[in-house]
Amino acid sequence: MEQGGTTLDREWLRLRNQLRDNERIWAGFRQIEVQMIGSHSLTDLIGVITQGIPEVFPGIDCVTLACVDPEYEMLRLIEKGASVLQPNSFVAITRETLDGLFTRPWLPRLGPADAHLHSLLFSDNPSASGSVALSPLIRRGELIGILNQGSRDPRHFISGTATDLLEHLAAVAALCIDNAINQERLKLDGLTDPLTGVSNRRFFERRIAEEVERWARQVGPLVCMMVDVDFFKQVNDQYGHQVGDRVLRQIASILGQDLRGSDVLARYGGEEFVLLLPGASAAQGAAIAERLRANIAHSAFVIPEGIDLNVTVSVGFACLEPGVDSYGSDPSVWLFQRVDAALYQAKQTGRNRVIQAPPE
Ligand code: GH3
Ligand code: MG
Ligand code: MG
Repeated sequence: MEQGGTTLDREWLRLRNQLRDNERIWAGFRQIEVQMIGSHSLTDLIGVITQGIPEVFPGIDCVTLACVDPEYEMLRLIEKGASVLQPNSFVAITRETLDGLFTRPWLPRLGPADAHLHSLLFSDNPSASGSVALSPLIRRGELIGILNQGSRDPRHFISGTATDLLEHLAAVAALCIDNAINQERLKLDGLTDPLTGVSNRRFFERRIAEEVERWARQVGPLVCMMVDVDFFKQVNDQYGHQVGDRVLRQIASILGQDLRGSDVLARYGGEEFVLLLPGASAAQGAAIAERLRANIAHSAFVIPEGIDLNVTVSVGFACLEPGVDSYGSDPSVWLFQRVDAALYQAKQTGRNRVIQAPPE
């Protein structure tokens, strides 16, 4: 009788503990879910998934996200805020790899970490060397990636145990990833030039106002420059607008090389690009403008016919000096008018050159 009571007590205790564990797990899950839904960007979201999950769930030591990202769209979005993420939190995998890992019905895979997957999905992180759970991320009926959770404990994820929580977590993660990408696309669409991928005029106009405000607080000088392709109409007329488009993309890419994080490059219109270089002095602006001009003049612009086009640009630039207050009521108007006049002069005096607007 006593024996039976003890067994009953033990069973009751076991159930009570299990219930408490489950409650804790669901509370943790709700916490992660709220954070995922509330994240402001894709980077933010990946931070919640890869850093939040190990913080909330005991026994999970390493989490990464692997997605099919053929056009590097996610990588580009993540790069913007990458400093807040742990290295290797995001892994770009191929469609073949992903399809090779799961067969329908797509369900989480639990068990020991096989060497190949440990290396591919966890970058050989020892925190995931015991056991892993690979949960397929499914969005709109398509397999889009994997939520990878790893533990040092070989018994943490055991094949054959219930996976409803993992499935639920992966479903919310997939929904939030899809949503974050769409949100970022919307943001970009409004402020990015679709042809070249650099910022557009709207973005530039917003930024010049902000940077002139910063300049007015005596933070430092501010250089603005405009780059206009020489005789670009001839490129279109002779080789067609598709070749012209390729030239514009290549010029945008050359102009974007070596810029600092605070610099702004935008396509202002047709074959005109503008740059804002906060903190650059007139002398630094002159050196940068000259380097950009020379880079373009010396670049090979090879078109489908195999011809290397000779493409040059003219550059006009001006600088707002710190501590000077004679630029009129709106220094951004002064700045832009001077840039425009300097560019005009560069065109008039032979093109393929840099002209600096005289200081006020
Ligand atoms: P200049 O040296 O005086 O600047 O001569 P230009 O021929 O570059 O200047 P112009 O303003 O006469 O011509 C600019 C050309 O840029 C005309 C237009 O067809 C072309 N253009 C504008 N936007 C695009 C575009 O998105 N793609 C292509 N391919 N061409 C464009
Ligand atoms: Mg022009
Ligand atoms: Mg031109």
